[in-house]
Amino acid sequence: MTDREILSAAVVFADRFYMSEKALAELSCLGGCAFADAKNAKGLSENIGGSTSVKIIVSEYVPVNELVLSKAPALKGVIAYGAGYDHIDVGALKRRGVQVCNCRGQNAQAVAELVFGLMLCLMRRIHRADPWVKAGEWAKAGRALPEWASGSELWRKTLGIIGLGQIGARVARIAKGFDMEIIGYDPFMNPEQRSTLDVESVVLNELLSRSDMVTLHVPLAPDTEKMIDSRALEKVKPGMILVNTSRGKVIEEEAFIDALQTGRIGGAALDVFVTEPLPPGHPLTRMENVILSPHLGALSREAGDRLSDSVVRQIRDILEGHTPEGLIN
Ligand code: NAD
Repeated sequence: MTDREILSAAVVFADRFYMSEKALAELSCLGGCAFADAKNAKGLSENIGGSTSVKIIVSEYVPVNELVLSKAPALKGVIAYGAGYDHIDVGALKRRGVQVCNCRGQNAQAVAELVFGLMLCLMRRIHRADPWVKAGEWAKAGRALPEWASGSELWRKTLGIIGLGQIGARVARIAKGFDMEIIGYDPFMNPEQRSTLDVESVVLNELLSRSDMVTLHVPLAPDTEKMIDSRALEKVKPGMILVNTSRGKVIEEEAFIDALQTGRIGGAALDVFVTEPLPPGHPLTRMENVILSPHLGALSREAGDRLSDSVVRQIRDILEGHTPEGLIN
């Protein structure tokens, strides 16, 4: 994409993410779009370079802040491609009258299914079994499998869900199929959500002390950053399994690695990290009781199509003066 195409487009995609052919075709009738492929806010602001054509920015990870705003004088809306919008300075945009939206719910099923994929892998040692068989170790070992091959079931375990929004609620529904005892912590849930979910609400410390497994589904915000810190880790049921598909910074990483090393935490399944991509040789890459994935929770083909459709609907609504479905501010 040339700079000239970015300068004349109504919609700029800050980074490179999936948009369906159908969605891209629809956008060509809405003033056109361009992928900026920016690495950071500085790169994005330079690409936009004061263009008065650019009305909407869609960003998955690239920060959209004062600097970007200063180079986008005609901006009307910013859409977070996905559910998380911690990379967007909502306050600054609000002050300038720019609408901020996310695509909440569109990727929730994809993330909820990944939670169970990761948990089952970890609990039944699939992450260790697959490379072991492929490396020919089974043939060498014979019928007597190593001790690690004996895992645990999800059936009737206690699952603690922190954050019972779009993803947390779907996790709760799936967990019922495993006859799990489900407890949840989300002080912001409204009574209607609470009654439809049928999850026992508890305070955070109780959730940590009762759960065999805990899964995190809160947004990254000042009150959730390092929510799982050394004090919280002291409260957990010994050997508890933690799944994080929310944001890496919700966990205090050093304290968490320490708890994994001492066995206070029995294992972890992580899709998100404090630093992404995870640096080579990071301590988490060397632990056998940890399973890692590269922030792929939302990456199902179905979620990609739903996200594309939601982005187009919201672009149309912002340009036509209607309220977009994922409006935040
Ligand atoms: P959501 O807004 O529907 O749900 C978030 C829930 O967290 C809400 O119910 C809210 O009340 C609750 N919450 C907020 N602050 C809390 C706190 N301090 N304590 C307890 N609960 C709190 O969002 P969602 O669609 O369920 O997504 C949740 C997060 O998952 C996103 O913000 C994003 O960071 C992350 N996510 C990751 C991926 C991935 O690829 N791994 C994909 C989608 C979303």
